[in-house]
Amino acid sequence: MREDVAAIHAQQQAIGYESVFIEGAAESERYMKRLFSDWCAQGITSVLHEMPGGYANNSLAMVGLAAKAEALGVRIMSGITVKALESDNSGAIAAVITDQGRIECDYAVVAAGPWVRSFWEMLELPMEVGIRNAATGEISEGIPMWIYWSLQEGTLGVDPTLQVTNDGNMPPVIHVDTDAPLHSDQDGRLLTDAMWGIYYKPDFHFGGVQGGAAPFIVDKPASEVAVDPYGPDSPEFVVGPEFAEMWVSALAHCQQRFSGTLPHFKTEPSGGIGAFTPDSFPIFDTMKENCFVIADSNHGYKMIGVGDLVAQTICGSKPDLLNPFRFSRYAEGDLHPVSNSPFPWS
Ligand SMILES: Cc1cc2nc3c(=O)[nH]c(=O)nc-3n(C[C@H](O)[C@H](O)[C@H](O)COP(=O)(O)OP(=O)(O)OC[C@H]3O[C@@H](n4cnc5c(N)ncnc54)[C@H](O)[C@@H]3O)c2cc1C
Repeated sequence: MREDVAAIHAQQQAIGYESVFIEGAAESERYMKRLFSDWCAQGITSVLHEMPGGYANNSLAMVGLAAKAEALGVRIMSGITVKALESDNSGAIAAVITDQGRIECDYAVVAAGPWVRSFWEMLELPMEVGIRNAATGEISEGIPMWIYWSLQEGTLGVDPTLQVTNDGNMPPVIHVDTDAPLHSDQDGRLLTDAMWGIYYKPDFHFGGVQGGAAPFIVDKPASEVAVDPYGPDSPEFVVGPEFAEMWVSALAHCQQRFSGTLPHFKTEPSGGIGAFTPDSFPIFDTMKENCFVIADSNHGYKMIGVGDLVAQTICGSKPDLLNPFRFSRYAEGDLHPVSNSPFPWS
């Protein structure tokens, strides 16, 4: 991971994205203590500080984005479920069938987040892919197209400003990956001596310090994952007391100010599941004559500009930036690098 992070820093330098890369345990500790005087994580050997990175109030950000779209003349109809896609004789999509009627269309853009598999089925696209090994030319067949990861998240119900920096400013998102032993903040017992990872930041939407831990693959066939991953019956959605103890203990492992705060952990649902592609990178591609699929593989805000590139594609130009995200990369063996991080999106 250290090498990966060094490479990310070098790429950021090359494109003029402001970031600081610190190497060495003593230097890393000094750097973090300059941000937070109570920093106490053990065994941190490198720090990448991405200066423009940050976080938004997520509900307000979505309301703002919707307003921008509507200002451009887009009509948003919420509360409607797409049930099927109707094709004409040539295989092009002629209409979208919804629970409130049939909508004819010239072009359909699918951007369904973790629900992408339903649309993939409606489009009769393959549920398994073959992946070519670029070095040997060998093809591994039968790789599942959609893999679900459970993203366990939670909120500590404290004043969000508890997590300001030494100079009283809003901090960056803290994201820690480490193999230092993790002990319970409650009774000191060892929780894990394997590698673990967390992230956290102040959150004015959830009201507290919000974040998560390394996600895990939902170990069952995609067809058995809840159709509505956010429905009340979805087992992937619920975090238990083990998560709360691990995550809050990890916060206390990093910053002394969180020691003793476990009773403030909020029990309300947080987190969810993400649908990931075989290399955990997005697919942005024309999948039928008149249908573009935006499957962002849980990459979130950093993909926010993709709509503009998709619009350019639909209008006839071919932006190079979308090329790495074409579906044919699996068959061609032109995949993205595999992340050594326990977080498939980083
Ligand atoms: C727990 C969790 C935490 C995350 N944290 C972050 C983060 O901190 N930062 C970040 O950048 N990203 C984060 N992400 C990732 C981010 O949320 C997604 O990458 C992003 O929302 C994908 O955007 P989208 O517009 O493609 O899909 P979505 O935002 O998922 O939107 C898809 C929409 O399609 C609708 N839909 C689905 N099926 C149908 C149907 N049949 N008919 C009609 N409508 C339908 C859904 O209701 C939904 O509104 C997180 C994801 C999860 C699950």
